Amino acid sequence: MMPLDVCAPYPCEYKEAKTSVIRTTDWARRSREFFISQGNPKKQLQFGIIQGATFEDLRRQSTEEILSVGFDGYAVGGVSVGEPVEEMFKTLDWVMPHLPDDKPRYFMGIGLPDQIVKAVGEGIDMFDTCIPTRFGRHGAAFTSKGKVVVRNGEFSKDMLPLDESCGCIVCKRYTRSYIRHLISSGELSGLRLVSYHNVYFYLSLMRKIRAAIKENRYDSFQKEFLAAYGSELEPSRV
Ligand SMILES: [Zn+2]
Repeated sequence: MMPLDVCAPYPCEYKEAKTSVIRTTDWARRSREFFISQGNPKKQLQFGIIQGATFEDLRRQSTEEILSVGFDGYAVGGVSVGEPVEEMFKTLDWVMPHLPDDKPRYFMGIGLPDQIVKAVGEGIDMFDTCIPTRFGRHGAAFTSKGKVVVRNGEFSKDMLPLDESCGCIVCKRYTRSYIRHLISSGELSGLRLVSYHNVYFYLSLMRKIRAAIKENRYDSFQKEFLAAYGSELEPSRV
């Protein structure tokens, strides 16, 4: 369960970002007090949200304030609002060292597969994103070798599946050229097949991430994934 927060836009003036931190902390306090006063009959977890836009001192202030309220988990919010990806990861540099290891940490609204892999390396546990289906609706598939925009003409005779290393039903049954044909003929089933594959890709990526952490080999998993994916992101030091 998340309290209401104020997500400042990008770019935004310092004053606006500061106001968003003040209001977010105020709402966090009131919401935590109410949550506790109700006795939590449904055994839910309530998370605090850290704001502060792209300003280091505001991110630190927000982190301190939200930690002082005390929540069951902590979320880094106000990211993925149009800022460059380096700015997004700078936020983690400022915030993550201060969050407790024994509470789940959630990066709100992230993200692309390589961003998820890097953020986990920085200590993030949870994500939410519309990307798998949004990209699917635009005919773009995620694969272990990066993004494949299957609606493009170059795939009109491509007899490979969306991702050769994927075990989903779409990759077992359909070729890129057939899916492209469906999309270019205006058949919605084409976009549906790509979305299905993308959701499957994300779920299996998260499974691989959990296995790599459990087996204490996240560092090498991250490097291999980012290299194969063709990511421009630097692997984080785990
Ligand atoms: Zn697939």
